[in-house]
Amino acid sequence: VKNVSKTYQGAGQTLTVLNDVNFSVEAGSTLSVVGPSGSGKTTLLGLCAGLDRSSKGSVELNNIRLDQLSEDERAQVRNRYVGFIFQNFQLLPTLTALENVMVPLELRGEKNVRARSMSLLDKVGLNNRMHHYPAQLSGGEQQRVSLARAFANSPRILFADEPTGNLDVETSDKVIKLLFELNQEAGTTLIIVTHNLELASQTKRIIKIKGGHLVADELN
Ligand code: ATP
Repeated sequence: VKNVSKTYQGAGQTLTVLNDVNFSVEAGSTLSVVGPSGSGKTTLLGLCAGLDRSSKGSVELNNIRLDQLSEDERAQVRNRYVGFIFQNFQLLPTLTALENVMVPLELRGEKNVRARSMSLLDKVGLNNRMHHYPAQLSGGEQQRVSLARAFANSPRILFADEPTGNLDVETSDKVIKLLFELNQEAGTTLIIVTHNLELASQTKRIIKIKGGHLVADELN
C-alpha cells in the first residue's frame, strides 16, 4: 500500500477517510489493523482486498496493481487469491449454511464440494446447523459460516473484519486457533481488523489507523 488515500462524496461534501497510508506485508505473514471506530480500517481492508479502489496511491497484491484494474478484473483477482470475512457476514439469505459454503466452490468447478464444505462447517463447530438459513442462526453462528466459506477457497490471503466481534470467549478462541492454523499450515497471509487486543498481540505486526492516518506500525 503506497501513499493511499480514499475519499467519499456524499451529502454535498467530500470526506477523506484514508490519508496517505503506507505499509506492506510479506506473503505468509500476519498483520492486525487496530484503531478507533470510524478511523478507516474497514475501508483500508476493502482497498487491499480489491473490493473497492483507492482515490490516490497504489495497492499491490501478489504483484498485481489493484488500483489499475477494472471492477471485473478485481473480481477475478479476488476469486483467485482472496478470502474475506465481512463484519456483517454477507451470507446469502435464501441459501442454507451448507449451501453458502458450497456455492462459491461449485462456481469454481471444484470437486468433492459437499463433503469438503461439511467438513469445514464441522471444524467451526456447526455440524448441527448445516441446513439452517442465515436468519435462523445467531450472529456468532453466521460469523462461523462466513469463516468456513472463506477457508473453503484456500485463499492466498485472508482479510478478516472483526472475526471475533460476535463471539463468546470460547468460540472466539476456537476461531483464532483456526485462523492461525490456516496461516501456519497453508501459508495464508492474514490481515485482521480487530478491537481484540489479545488477538492483535498474536499477529506478527500491528498497524494503527487513527482519523484515516497510519499512526503506528509495530512488530509484536
Ligand atoms: P469500525 O471499527 O466502527 O468498523 P472503521 O475503522 O472500520 O470503523 P470504516 O468503516 O472504514 O471505519 O469507515 C471510516 C469512515 O468512512 C466512517 O466515518 C464512515 O462513516 C465513512 N464511510 C465508510 N463508507 C462510506 C461510504 N460508502 N460513503 C461515505 N462514507 C463512508
